[in-house]
Amino acid sequence: VSKTAHARSALLAAAAVGLAAAPAQEPVRPQDDLFLHVNAGWLAGVEVPADRVSYGAFHELADRVEADVLAIIEDLARRPNRKRGTPSQQIVDLYASLMDQARLDDLGIAPIREELARIEAIRTPRELAAQAGRLSAIGAGGPLLGSVAEDPMAPGRVVFHLTQVGLLLPERDDYSEEDPPAVTIRARYLDYLATVFTRIGRPDPTADARAVLAVETELARARPDAAPARFTLAQLAAEMPGFDWPAWAKPQGVDRAAYVLVSQPSSFEAFAAAVARLPLEAWKAWLAARYVTASAPFLDRTLEDARFEFFGRVLTGQERPRARSQRGVSLVSGYLTDAVGRLYAEKRFSPEAKARVEALVGNVLEAYRRAIGEADWMSKAARREALEKLRRMEARIGRPERWRDYGGLAIKADDLFGNIQRAQKFENDYRMSSLRTPGGRGEWPVGAQTVSAYYWPGDNAIVLPAGLLQPPFFDPHADDAVNYGGLGAVVGHEITHAFDERGRWTDAAGALRDWWRPQDEQEFRKRAALLVEQFDAMSPGPGLRVSGERTVRENIGDLVGLEMAFRAYRLSLAGRRSPVIDGTTGEQRFFMSWARIWRARIRDEYLRQWLLTNPHAPPQFRVNGAVVHLSGFYDAFGVEPGDRLYRGPERRVKFW
Ligand SMILES: [Zn+2]
Repeated sequence: VSKTAHARSALLAAAAVGLAAAPAQEPVRPQDDLFLHVNAGWLAGVEVPADRVSYGAFHELADRVEADVLAIIEDLARRPNRKRGTPSQQIVDLYASLMDQARLDDLGIAPIREELARIEAIRTPRELAAQAGRLSAIGAGGPLLGSVAEDPMAPGRVVFHLTQVGLLLPERDDYSEEDPPAVTIRARYLDYLATVFTRIGRPDPTADARAVLAVETELARARPDAAPARFTLAQLAAEMPGFDWPAWAKPQGVDRAAYVLVSQPSSFEAFAAAVARLPLEAWKAWLAARYVTASAPFLDRTLEDARFEFFGRVLTGQERPRARSQRGVSLVSGYLTDAVGRLYAEKRFSPEAKARVEALVGNVLEAYRRAIGEADWMSKAARREALEKLRRMEARIGRPERWRDYGGLAIKADDLFGNIQRAQKFENDYRMSSLRTPGGRGEWPVGAQTVSAYYWPGDNAIVLPAGLLQPPFFDPHADDAVNYGGLGAVVGHEITHAFDERGRWTDAAGALRDWWRPQDEQEFRKRAALLVEQFDAMSPGPGLRVSGERTVRENIGDLVGLEMAFRAYRLSLAGRRSPVIDGTTGEQRFFMSWARIWRARIRDEYLRQWLLTNPHAPPQFRVNGAVVHLSGFYDAFGVEPGDRLYRGPERRVKFW
């Protein structure tokens, strides 16, 4: 339901670093820093808004989509006679139920009393496990985090994937480190927990708070060291005694899965053992704290404010919460995704835009087809497989062909909490009914209103939702250079995921089959190693380092995607010279567009977290790190030895 903000503490922030630093006053040449050359002006005029931890082109688009969806909701609300159970009634009433702050304040903690009583009534470890499973089924702070997902050990297959034992603090070290920031975080966490227990009327809130911290400290001690593994429920019960796994599985329907994929078996084993060892009362307090924290955004102001104060301000540096209306839009868009997406696409996605995007995608695929045909470092067999994969790749553009139906989901204007529970249950049942993952079998992984793009291996499809098909990525009225450097590069990036270290595991039909030969693996890794080395040397500030290893898959996507988009742009010119507009050539506008889509500012606190967890390098490194390998970039701007972005030809990496 509500994601705990997993971000590094504001208290751990050091001096101002990275993207938040003031941009240079001197004009920057594209040969020295393409990112700053294009974005210095934008960076100078933009601050990270108080309710965000970073701000860039993706957020600009998200804001635009949000305004559009809000207008759609308000328009529906003005129409009379909404029939119960129709999408318009569901949309309008779900939104209204969040906006009615006065009613939520009146209700206080009444909506969570029933579930809290269930927790209070727990008398045995079996009941504890069953209640933990129940909270997961209704999306309300269940302690074991898992979901129906693609099996990373068998891409294209669907599995129930258990990822981690939930801790409310962002990092394990926060529970043990003795340096002042970590000590302060724990003190503020205890304050937060005590507020929670006071509010729900527990007799000794301080003792409860300490019990919760003690439980989590114990859980944080287990270091995840074992590789992911598959377990049946019987195996979990036998190999990880102490926790009643079957009782936990039943409420969610996990017992219908053939097996469970467990990401960090050693930490689940430690969890199960701790359940048997620590007092049941401590576990009950722990469950209650998780449940209230997950529910707080849908309750009265006191709990909501306490939650933001700790998880927003203290942990991420976010200065104020998102406006209520913005949260309302996210809520409706999240739970009634296709009902909203359908209206959004009607309003914002035209047949003309679709035709233009189709032509662009066609040229990127064609560029890729030629490049793979010429890639003599690949084995003949792998080249044949790759070409077949390309030939059968499906491009889903703008909106799904079929829309999901939310019939049977009861939404009431005066029952926010009930709405959330019913919607979560509806979603859980839908996923578990046949263990289905979003994106499988013609479904879209996200709504048409989403600002993102995906490659979906099980369907061998790239997905480009209407929400992304806006400037600066795509503009139906802009010249091709701008659209190929923006959207074209994103399309190329996604296609590249079909041919990388993960793409190798699924074939043209989306079936699980490794189509690389030893030669392909060797040659691919040789090239990847050079990128790892390149990105390992990047640093956004003192004490901060980009991880070449963590980001390599995405950096390959950027590099190859940009190259393919550039060739696709050339194809669109069909032998003509690119038009000069405002003194820039098409080739220059292409690369400037690439830099523009990654404009962003990131809070220092959040940048540290980013470097530790994000598979993408920070934007300025993505932009400059890719172009240095492309001969088209050298030609477009006359880059020469001595320029900061010059890289000798022998050090440039080329996959395709
Ligand atoms: Zn990617």
